Amino acid sequence: MLNIVIFGAPGSGKGTQSERIVEKFGINHISTGDVLRAEIKNETALGKTAKKYIDQGQLVPDELIIDILASVLDSLKESKGVIFDGFPRTIPQAEALKAMLNKRGQDVSVMLDLDVPEEELIVRLLKRGEESGRADDNMETIKKRLLVYNTQTSPLKDFYKKEGKYQHIKGIGTMESIFAAIVSAVEKL
Ligand code: ADP
Repeated sequence: MLNIVIFGAPGSGKGTQSERIVEKFGINHISTGDVLRAEIKNETALGKTAKKYIDQGQLVPDELIIDILASVLDSLKESKGVIFDGFPRTIPQAEALKAMLNKRGQDVSVMLDLDVPEEELIVRLLKRGEESGRADDNMETIKKRLLVYNTQTSPLKDFYKKEGKYQHIKGIGTMESIFAAIVSAVEKL
């Protein structure tokens, strides 16, 4: 089982690289951001709650997101592994993920930290906001999301370093060169 956590700030390229990883290694992709956006689009109760947090640049509460992740993971049968994109984002989420995988006799194989300087993140997110119209890709919300990332999410680097799972990936350069760095990290496992 190949269980990859793809990690990085908003705009670091997690979604783009996840698609390529899925294609190359034949594993499943779970993006909590995509799951939440689908719930919002379908106007479910969960979507309505999540929207309030997302529009403010805040994280959706841990209990909610952990339940969602557990049910998506349960729905995957015959999987060769999973790439977790946008999860975990807090220490309690990382602990919950470990417990869920351990229960299945598995663990996180590697955490790939896509490292991109903040100036570049802002440029990318503003561009994405113009092109895709994603409501949270505006300057005010981007600033809040980066603050949330730096305070609540970034500490996960130390969590995975202690677990011996941390792998730094330089997140600037061409999409191909970044992907090549990821592939070589995964193939070394
Ligand atoms: P990005 O990486 O660009 O911030 P995502 O699509 O991963 O985009 O997430 C969008 C928003 O969805 C986040 O800002 C947050 O509000 C919410 N969200 C996604 N994943 C999580 C999570 N694991 N825990 C809490 N909130 C989440």
